[in-house]
Parts: sequence; structure tokens; C-alpha cells
Amino acid sequence: MSKYITFILFCMLMSFSCKQAPQANNTVEIKVPAFNADSAYSYTEKQVSFGPRVPGTTAHDSCGNYLAGELRRFGAAVTEQKATLHLLDNSPIAIKNIIGSFQPENKNRILLCAHWDSRPYADHDQDSKNWYTPIDGANDGAGSCAALLEIARQVQTSQPAVGIDIIFFDAEDWGKPDFPVKDKHYGNWCMGSEYWAKNPHVLNYNARYGILLDMVSGTNALFFKEEESTRQASHVVKKVWEAAQATGYEAYFPNRPGSGIVDDHLQVMKYRKIPCIDIIQTNPESEQGFASYWHTLDDSMKSVDKKTLQAVGQTVLYVLYKEK
Ligand SMILES: [Zn+2]
Repeated sequence: MSKYITFILFCMLMSFSCKQAPQANNTVEIKVPAFNADSAYSYTEKQVSFGPRVPGTTAHDSCGNYLAGELRRFGAAVTEQKATLHLLDNSPIAIKNIIGSFQPENKNRILLCAHWDSRPYADHDQDSKNWYTPIDGANDGAGSCAALLEIARQVQTSQPAVGIDIIFFDAEDWGKPDFPVKDKHYGNWCMGSEYWAKNPHVLNYNARYGILLDMVSGTNALFFKEEESTRQASHVVKKVWEAAQATGYEAYFPNRPGSGIVDDHLQVMKYRKIPCIDIIQTNPESEQGFASYWHTLDDSMKSVDKKTLQAVGQTVLYVLYKEK
């Protein structure tokens, strides 16, 4: 059984045409599936249960197969894009971007994306003994993919007017550790998205716009208007923040500018010229700009909050189903 929420939009039809008589029915109803945070939470747990998803590990392989399998189960046409990239010491890493497409024949497309790998270092952990330990990445990785899996499940039940591509980017979190390192066994940020943006799964791939989710399941999360999103894709920022208002989740989306973040959306905009925003949890009050559990061993299931998943998931669904 699927649940829907009906949102009534009050449209100022009068303002569009002064020659027309005012119309009696000046409301538009849009039917939006109800996002299920319990299911998104369970998809988060499942990914974390494999262990840290660091490229080259069994946990990474197993989780990649799980994510592709779930997208297939929800009716998407799935492409597994594999590549060998290199760290700065030239050691190879095998990566896999996972793409699920709904209504592939539809020319009007929206791109939703998140990274599915988890950071190989807990470089912001208070205890330096943990710095070389890979993190669970429950919020930084798993939660965002989980929100997109739940959106995929809803899209299967009732298709919106637009085609949807969901991309799980690999190797986002391989940037240089924030502690003195002896060798160059690290890579760059956003390696998987850079590869996809330069080598899209469909020749000349295009979409109306993209929405990147990163760290959208954490406790006490706030989503500010990320600087590059506002600079390069302000109309998408406007859509999403209005959707948060319409769905009643505006408390999670303050109408305030946030700092600029190096993230996968920049690759999408740079190499594919698709306006793409980043919904990302930041904390302007903290020294690093992120939540206290960011890039620490505390980014585990205990830092995941269903209410945050609900706020972001419902907001994004609203945006998708409002599209014509
Ligand atoms: Zn990260």
C-alpha cells in the first residue's frame, strides 16, 4: 500500500493575465507519495552492516552489489560503471558508479545523486589512534543513498512526469587526510563523480537539473544554502527551499547562506553543465564547519535520525512530483 500526501498550491492566477476573469478554482493539487523514514533507516543500517565501504574491500563490493540490486528491485534500468582510478602514490583503486534510471525514454530528466563510499580515515576523531581507521559513514554516505533508495521505491509505485536518474557516486571521500601523512596513499575528493561527469553512462547525458544529497540523515541537522549551489543553480535552490516550506520542514532548511563545499555537484556542473545543488549538513558554529561526528568513528548508526531523513526525503519527493 502506498500513502500519498496531497498538497494544495494556492496560485495567484489573476496575476498571470489581467484580461481573464478571475477563476473560481485557484488552487492546484499535487499528489506526492509519503516518504517512509523507517524504510530509509533500514537501508542505512543495511549499508553500514557491510562495514566501511572503502574501494578495494569486500564490504565495498558487497554493498555495491546490494545498492545495484535494490535499484533493480525498484524497477530502475541499472548501469554499473566500473573504472580503475589512481591515488596520488599511483596505486590503482577499482571504483564503481551505480546508476538507476526510471523512464529512460523520457527527455525531461532530473538527476539525484549521493556518494556511496565511506571515508578510509577517521581523521577528525578526537583520539589520534583512530585516525587510520575507516569510518562507518552512516551519515556521510549510507544515509543519503538510503534516502534515494526510498525515493526509488516510491517512484516505482507512481511515476512522476519526469524521468529520474539516481546515481550513487563512488570514491567521493578519498581526499587528503587532515593529519600529517608520510606517504601519498590518498586521492582526491569526488573522484567517482569526476569520472562519470567526463564519461557519462549515456552519450551527451543531460538533465534539467541535479540534486546532490550528502549527509542528510544526521542528528540535529541543518541545511544551509550551499554557496556554489546558490551561485550556479539558484533556481534549483529556490525550488527546494520552497518545497521544504510546503512540506512543513522549513526548520531543517534555514533561509540562510552556507559556506561553499567541495562536493560531487561541482563535477556535475563543471563537466556536464547541469545545474546541480548540494543539500548538505553543515554547522557554521563548529571549527570544521560540520557536525561533531563528521569524519570520526562516531559517524555510526547512533548519529542517524529518522526525522532528518524524513525532512529531506519528503522535500525532494515534493520537488519531483511538482515537475511537469
Ligand atoms: Zn565525507
